[in-house]
Amino acid sequence: MATLDGNAIGGLLLEVFGTDMTDAAATCATCGAVRPLAETAVYLRGPGTVVRCRTCAGLLMVISRIRGVSCVDLTGLSALG
Ligand SMILES: [Zn+2]
Repeated sequence: MATLDGNAIGGLLLEVFGTDMTDAAATCATCGAVRPLAETAVYLRGPGTVVRCRTCAGLLMVISRIRGVSCVDLTGLSALG
């Protein structure tokens, strides 16, 4: 399966957060690496979109769509913005 980067979900992030998040700095809660969301590893597969740290492959974010509503799990991030 091909790995995408955060730019692939730029539109989805815009929809969820209401602003362009690709330049936002994401801090991994597992290893502490900080990099723009645009440089994270993104996997598009059901039932949600999975965003992983490129340093430790830890889970950063899961975006799932339930009945047309996007739900975001940010538990893998210690900071965002
Ligand atoms: Zn990490």
